[in-house]
Amino acid sequence: LEQIQDFKGKYPRQIWPLFFSEMWERFCFYGMRGMLVVFMISQLKLEEQEANLQYGATQAFVYAFTFVGGLFADKILGFRKSLFWGGLLMILGSLILATNAFSFVPGITYRNFFLGIAFTIIGTGFFKPNISTMVGKLYKSGDGRTDAGFTLFYAGINLGALLGGYLCVSIGQGDLFNSYIDPDHRWNVAFGLASIVMIISLVNFHFTRRLLGPIGLQPGHEHSDNPEKKIVKWHEYAVYAGTLVIIPLIMIMVSKTQYTDYFMWTIGPLTLFYLFYEMSKVTSAERKKLWAALVFILFSIVFWGIYEQSGGSLSIFAAKNLNRDLFNLNPNGVNNSGGAFFILLLAIPIGLLWIWLNKRKMEPNTLIKFGLGFLFLGLGFYVIYSTRLFADMAGVTSLRIFTIALFVITLGEMCLSPIGLSIMTKLSTKNLQGMMMGMWFLASAYGQYVAGIIGANMATAKEGSSNIDALMAYTEGYKQLGLYAVIAGIILIIISPLVKKLMQEVR
Ligand code: GLN
Repeated sequence: LEQIQDFKGKYPRQIWPLFFSEMWERFCFYGMRGMLVVFMISQLKLEEQEANLQYGATQAFVYAFTFVGGLFADKILGFRKSLFWGGLLMILGSLILATNAFSFVPGITYRNFFLGIAFTIIGTGFFKPNISTMVGKLYKSGDGRTDAGFTLFYAGINLGALLGGYLCVSIGQGDLFNSYIDPDHRWNVAFGLASIVMIISLVNFHFTRRLLGPIGLQPGHEHSDNPEKKIVKWHEYAVYAGTLVIIPLIMIMVSKTQYTDYFMWTIGPLTLFYLFYEMSKVTSAERKKLWAALVFILFSIVFWGIYEQSGGSLSIFAAKNLNRDLFNLNPNGVNNSGGAFFILLLAIPIGLLWIWLNKRKMEPNTLIKFGLGFLFLGLGFYVIYSTRLFADMAGVTSLRIFTIALFVITLGEMCLSPIGLSIMTKLSTKNLQGMMMGMWFLASAYGQYVAGIIGANMATAKEGSSNIDALMAYTEGYKQLGLYAVIAGIILIIISPLVKKLMQEVR
C-alpha cells in the first residue's frame, strides 16, 4: 500500500483502471437512465406525470442503495467483491431488458422492465460507492493531490455519462443506426449496448485488479493488523442470496411510487441512527470528523435538490421554452448532455488549478470550495431566470443563454461533487469508509427526491396556461432556487470556522 501511495507525479497510475471501469459503468448507468422516461412514455404508454414520478423513484432508490452497498463492503465483502457483485447485477439487469427474458411477446414487457431496473438499482448500489472509495485509498491521508485525483475520476464519470446518455437513447428512439436495426428491437439493442459496456467495465477491472495491491481485498481496511476482519464465506454468500431475495421487493416498490415516499421517510432516519451508533464506538477526534462529514452531506442534499431540476422540470422547460439558437442543437439534448460536456472541458484545468494553488499554499479548503459550489449554482439559476429577458412573443427564449447557465452550474458542480467524494474518504474512519461514501450518495437520493417534488410543484403552477405564463412561472421558480443556493453558500461560509474545528487536520 505504501508503494502505491508514495507515487511520484500528479496522479497515481492505479487511478486509470478505476477511471475506465467507472467510465463504462456510468455509460451503462446514464444510458439506462436516459432511456427511462422516453421508454416508459413511448413503449409502456405511461402518462407523462406517472413516468416522471417513476423516474424519480428509480433515481432515489439507486442512490439510496449505494448506502447499503457501501455498508456491506465495509462489513462483509470488501470493496472489490462488492464492486464485482454490483457489476454482475447491472449486467444481468440490462441483459433482461436486452433479451426480453422470460417473455414470449415481442417488445419489453412492463414486468421485465421493472425487473431489469430492480437489478440495475441494486447493482449500482454495490458498484458505485465502492469504486469511489478505492480512489480515495490510493492516497495517504493529507495528500494534497487527492482532490485533483477525484476531479480526474469525475471526468471519467462524465465521459461515460456523455457517451451513454447520448448513444443509448438515440438508438432506442431510432435516431441512430436505424437502417441496421430491426425497428421492433431498437430498445433491446440500446439496452444491450448498456450491458456490453458494463461487461467491458468488469473485464477491465478484473484484469487490472493486481495493480491495486491490497486495496479493497478485505472488509474495512487493507492492513491485516486485525485478523478477525477477513471475509467470512457464509456471510458473503448470505449477502449474495439476500440481494437476490429483495429484488422482487424493489421491483414492486419502484413500480408503485407511493412506496418510495414511505421508503424515503424511513431510510434516512434509520441510517442516521445507525451512524450515531457507530459514532459512539469511535474516539472523540474521529467522531468530530464524522460530524463534519454529516454537515457536508446535509448541504449536498440542498445542492442536488436544486441541481437535479435538470432531469425533471428543466427538461420540460427546455422542450417548451427554448429555441435552437446554438448551432441548431436540440434544446433537450443540450440540457441532458451539456453538463457532462462542460465537466470534460473543465476537469483537467480545474484539477491542475487545485494542484497549482496547493503548491503555493493557496488552495481553498473544502468548505470554501463547497461555498463556491453553491454560489455558482445560485448564479447559474439566476442566469436561467434571465432567459425571460430574451424571450419572443411566444415565450420562447435563447438556448445560448441557457447554455451559459449550464456552464456556470457545472462550475458549481465541479467545486462540490468531486470534492465531496474526496472529503468523505478523508473524514471517515477506516472501517466506515464505504458506509460514509454511501451516505454521501444517499444525500443524492434525497436530492433527487426533493428535486422531483419541487419540479412537480412548479409544473402544477402553470396548468392550462400559455407558453409565456409557463416561462414566467418556471423562471420565477428558478430565481427562488437561485436565491436558496446563494443563501446556503453564505451559511456554509459563515459556519466554516466551526466545521473547520471539527475537521481538525483535514483540509
Ligand atoms: N454526476 C455524478 C455521478 O454520476 C454525481 C451524481 C450524484 O452524486 N448525484 O457520479
